Amino acid sequence: YKKSMGVNKGALIIGGGLAGMTAAIDCADQGFAVTIVEKQGELGGNLRHVHTTLSGKETAATLDALIQKVNNHPNIAIHLNSKIKSVSGYVGNFKTELDGHATPIEHGAVIVATGAEQYEPTEYGFGKDERVLTQQKLEDMLHQSEAATAVASLKSIVMIQCVGSRDEARSYCSRVCCTNALKNAIKIKEINPKTAVYILFRDIRTYGLREKYYRQAREKGVVFIRYDLARKPRVQTTGGNLVVTVKDVMLGRNVSIKPDLCVLSAAIVANPDNKTLSQFLKVPLEADGFFLEAHVKLRPVDFATEGVFVCGLAHYPKDIGETIAQARAAAARAATVLSKETLESEGKISAIRAELCSGCGLCVGVCAYNAIEIDPIKNIAVINETLCKGCGTCAASCRANAVDLNGFKNEQILSMLSVI
Ligand code: SF4
Repeated sequence: YKKSMGVNKGALIIGGGLAGMTAAIDCADQGFAVTIVEKQGELGGNLRHVHTTLSGKETAATLDALIQKVNNHPNIAIHLNSKIKSVSGYVGNFKTELDGHATPIEHGAVIVATGAEQYEPTEYGFGKDERVLTQQKLEDMLHQSEAATAVASLKSIVMIQCVGSRDEARSYCSRVCCTNALKNAIKIKEINPKTAVYILFRDIRTYGLREKYYRQAREKGVVFIRYDLARKPRVQTTGGNLVVTVKDVMLGRNVSIKPDLCVLSAAIVANPDNKTLSQFLKVPLEADGFFLEAHVKLRPVDFATEGVFVCGLAHYPKDIGETIAQARAAAARAATVLSKETLESEGKISAIRAELCSGCGLCVGVCAYNAIEIDPIKNIAVINETLCKGCGTCAASCRANAVDLNGFKNEQILSMLSVI
């Protein structure tokens, strides 16, 4: 027995940064009604802080064109300064309420593109000495011609990698900070080859074709000094000077530098709103607070909860190219739902025997597809027939035998066994 349900042709995109806007345009160009919900007062997200790509291309024009396209697209509605209040429903038929909006948004799919944030360092004197700044701040300065000239007229600059990444608190690699450090170091050297730039690193992770920028930085005279986790560099202020001391693991000796600036390659950390949103959407987060996909290789932009997809920094630190590719993948996956007129439930799904169910909720906890809820009035479990995949976990876990898997009832299985 199969049940069919109509599909709402709208996509809700949570986040209006590069990932959200790219996914929105892809969905809207296919004729689907798209609603973007952005908590900030403007679109653009983290891309506003990335002024050039690694190859030196300015991002501002691309960002402006993207924002203009989203603003002018007839199929895209935008809610700025908006936060999600609640999400109900399931694949093909979601209903989302926004804070301060009377009418809920009805949609058939959700794309999570909430981005991430820069870690606020608590180490290396950040916040205490204004000569200690983040790589993002340095990029902002290098983008303004006066500030860039001032930076490049300095005698020496030290960059410290893996600040807040790959340590006790956060074991993951933020993936883009090595590349960003190289980008800024090369830019400084191009403006003034005499400025000494030191990069204190643990591993340089310029994966793929980015490796050539590592070579370029070396050719331009950037000095790379390797440190290890057990002996992180020390930044002190002595006699008004910044002093950075580091044990160079290649030389096996302590090195002391008196830089004019100390630039921290701060980690990318998960958006603190992810927790609430993951509860609204019934999707998981991994240990560091980023959204966890259904399968790293087989379903990289899906969640186990059907109709909900993820892309961009909300999922994990990644660069511009990877973000665009993933956003387009998420839009394509959402289109596989939105392009259908109806969705059919599985034939083999679970069914509750109301007379036996005590509403204990054990089945709710074990269902990997969030297909069971407790009816608050009748206090019994209710199966969502669209979401149920018929895995039978609930039937196996119910102590009262109140769940049957259609076609595989206990009686049917026992009678099959009795004739073997
Ligand atoms: Fe450290 Fe480089 Fe990874 Fe950033 S990209 S966490 S600096 S290894």
